[in-house]
Amino acid sequence: MIRPILRYGDAALHARARPVDTFDQALHQLLSDMAETMYAAPGVGLAAPQIGVLLRVVVIDVTVGKKRGELHELVNPVLVSCEGMQMEEEGCLSLPGFNATVVRPTRAVVKAMDRDGRDIVIEGTDLVARALQHELDHLEGSLFVDRLRGIRRDVIVRKVQKLRRAGKW
Ligand SMILES: [Zn+2]
Repeated sequence: MIRPILRYGDAALHARARPVDTFDQALHQLLSDMAETMYAAPGVGLAAPQIGVLLRVVVIDVTVGKKRGELHELVNPVLVSCEGMQMEEEGCLSLPGFNATVVRPTRAVVKAMDRDGRDIVIEGTDLVARALQHELDHLEGSLFVDRLRGIRRDVIVRKVQKLRRAGKW
């Protein structure tokens, strides 16, 4: 089922998500809904808080479903190491219409669990590394704008506030 994606300003996007401790049918359904919602958007990643579920669950597919086996389901992910630095334009499904150049690592290693609670490790470079860090940030209640400094952040936040006042957000 495709779920509505919350936008910047919704409380669920700015809170810390809690770990998953039950690997049941409800979790499997959540993961399936998240992938379906991400592909429909379309996007390369989605974190559970973006659909209002405050759990540490993330899906990533940098091919947006075009290549089989590229969907990563990560439960309770933890960044174990990262290196390098890349600067690319980045957006977020919770901030439609906005993007900015964000500094990210070029390589990231994340430890997580799969939908059945088995330990997995995912190592990503370039766009995958960027997506990993972006989605893990969501679990801390942080969006890409929060990694911007000063005026670059203020410009986006002010535009969102203006849209919200106009009832267009
Ligand atoms: Zn995002």
